[in-house]
Amino acid sequence: MNRDSAFMSLRLPSCRSLAYAVGVLILFFVALFGLPNFVVRTVEFLPNSIRWILTDPTTFWAVGIIACLEWLFPANRSQPAFSAGYFQDLLYFFVWIAIVAAGVQIYVEFLNSLFKGYFGFLVIDASSLPWLALLVISFLVGDLLAWFHHFVRHKVALFWRFHALHHSQTQMSLFTDFRVHPMEYLIAQTIIILPSFILGTHLSSRAGDIYWLAILITWYTRFYHANIRMNLGWLKYVLVTPQSHRVHHSASAEHADKNFGVMLCIWDRMFGTHCDEDCYPSTGVPDAYFPMPTSRSPRAVVTSYLHQLAYPFLPAKREQKDRERITSRTSAATERTASRV
Ligand SMILES: [Zn+2]
Ligand SMILES: [Zn+2]
Repeated sequence: MNRDSAFMSLRLPSCRSLAYAVGVLILFFVALFGLPNFVVRTVEFLPNSIRWILTDPTTFWAVGIIACLEWLFPANRSQPAFSAGYFQDLLYFFVWIAIVAAGVQIYVEFLNSLFKGYFGFLVIDASSLPWLALLVISFLVGDLLAWFHHFVRHKVALFWRFHALHHSQTQMSLFTDFRVHPMEYLIAQTIIILPSFILGTHLSSRAGDIYWLAILITWYTRFYHANIRMNLGWLKYVLVTPQSHRVHHSASAEHADKNFGVMLCIWDRMFGTHCDEDCYPSTGVPDAYFPMPTSRSPRAVVTSYLHQLAYPFLPAKREQKDRERITSRTSAATERTASRV
């Protein structure tokens, strides 16, 4: 082999790969050494809940590790790292930390006072139980309720209109986890928070001890939404994985209403809704009128975002469009048949 052909066979990394690698390195650098002072000063005026997530090293470690996994083991190789869908999910994320997280916090406090005021008789005195047993029971009951809530969101037409928004993403990323209608957050919190109200007085006194578990759970759901080809070996028999959740988001009718699990897949295995197929299908909803961004331009991303928030409230309009489409097709076919006769 001469020098020229040896040089030709040497594959240089593409600009996209280099940009990705630099981005990941920056994330790890910030995770280790913190944000530059001028950025910290810029976000200083923001409320605590928002400033915390933007400056916490955990955010940068987690995003960096997930980005590496997406790069090394992509579920969909042709998906660009920064697609129009990615930017829209990022918008959902920023709206979540700016408004929804704060709103949910106020709502949970309201629920707590309502529960104490009217449903105090449901509280179980679990202080005699070991703290770890209480934690495991709360986690299992909370996860089972989350499974049931997810199941209901698919089966009740009214709830599906809201949940369809989460399923509409065709370019999955870790930020797809935030692609949830604000109404859904409120309903989810109402259901998931219940076991901690019933068993919770003792548990909430150890909030500091379960901090890392809460962080792990939070980032785990973001991890399995990412564009990652991974099924976690034997853990797939217990946990929801990027593979099993991708099947849940599948656009194929054969995968509809499968894999409802939020953290554990044991409930799906128990209730017969688990899909064993080891595949990475295309994702999205079967609605040609779902408002998706047509480009990465800020205007397209924001406009389609607003349309998506309105989507659950406009079923009649969609049905009318469907009817118009079917009618126009039928009349065109009738005209064609008549012209042949
Ligand atoms: Zn779902
Ligand atoms: Zn999901």
